[in-house]
Amino acid sequence: MLPAAELHVHLEGTLEPELLVALAARNGVALPTTDVEQWRARYVFGDLQAFLDIYYANLAVLRTPQDFADLATAYLDRARAAGLLRVEAFFDPQVHLDNGVGLDVVFEGFGAAFDAARARGLSCDLILCFLRDRGADAAEEVLRAAMPFREQFIGVGLDSAEVGHPPAPFARVFAAAAAEGLHRVAHAGEEGGPEYVRDALDLLGVERIDHGIRAMEDPELVRRLVDEQVPLTVCPLSNVALRAVPELAAHPLPAMLDAGLRFTVNSDDPAYFGGYVEANIAAVRSLGLDETALRTLARNSIDAAFVPHEQKSAWRSVLDASELPST
Ligand SMILES: [Zn+2]
Repeated sequence: MLPAAELHVHLEGTLEPELLVALAARNGVALPTTDVEQWRARYVFGDLQAFLDIYYANLAVLRTPQDFADLATAYLDRARAAGLLRVEAFFDPQVHLDNGVGLDVVFEGFGAAFDAARARGLSCDLILCFLRDRGADAAEEVLRAAMPFREQFIGVGLDSAEVGHPPAPFARVFAAAAAEGLHRVAHAGEEGGPEYVRDALDLLGVERIDHGIRAMEDPELVRRLVDEQVPLTVCPLSNVALRAVPELAAHPLPAMLDAGLRFTVNSDDPAYFGGYVEANIAAVRSLGLDETALRTLARNSIDAAFVPHEQKSAWRSVLDASELPST
């Protein structure tokens, strides 16, 4: 793949069955099966909630700083090997707190893995996500609790079950995050309609929309997203796996490109949805996007990253000097 940035990946969603089973054994956590192929066979989902049920249950195997470091290192090593220049990775602290694991443990483990990846030349940072289905009070509580670790994350996001959990109640916690100088993003328009996207922009002040594919149902919103050049982090294999689109061939991605939307291609929860960012790029290529389009998407990812302008220009030069691999 062309050099690019991955801006929508959940570290917890990179938990491959092999590591899941190994961590369960290490920590004495009982699993319904220790057969990795059986785990893969279970990763067939009717919708977002069906996925979330398995995703949250599996996270009970993460107990110690070493567990979190192993999880992040496995992903960051793959990211570097795939040729990514930059990773902005989500994590869900509320799940770990529920499992009796403190924020100090989570930040120690992820922090060690991210420092090691930076030392090996990968630009990478963490974005702390609020679980929207736990409500705004819980989000404010976790943001306060994370403040002693403020230097270890660059922004906040909003994820988990979208429908029935619109952005509005989170306006206050996003304002508090902004006051701390944190970047702001939110999942919107994945299963929820265009109004979730509009509210995320207007009420939460987000700088990027995660997913956003249902914005295509509202021409006026599309015009606004194009005019304001709001980046959308699209995850095609996730959309197929969670039935947000009936099949890859029906994905709105080519139409989004034609409309002039500025979007990037990402992996979301790659251990569960059939592939990492390179597999998502391959899926995009299979929709008939040519080299010019693929270069636009790679460039969008660099432009939408939360890094200084000088860094973006340096990476654009790297991209311009790179050949498109044949597959
Ligand atoms: Zn996501």
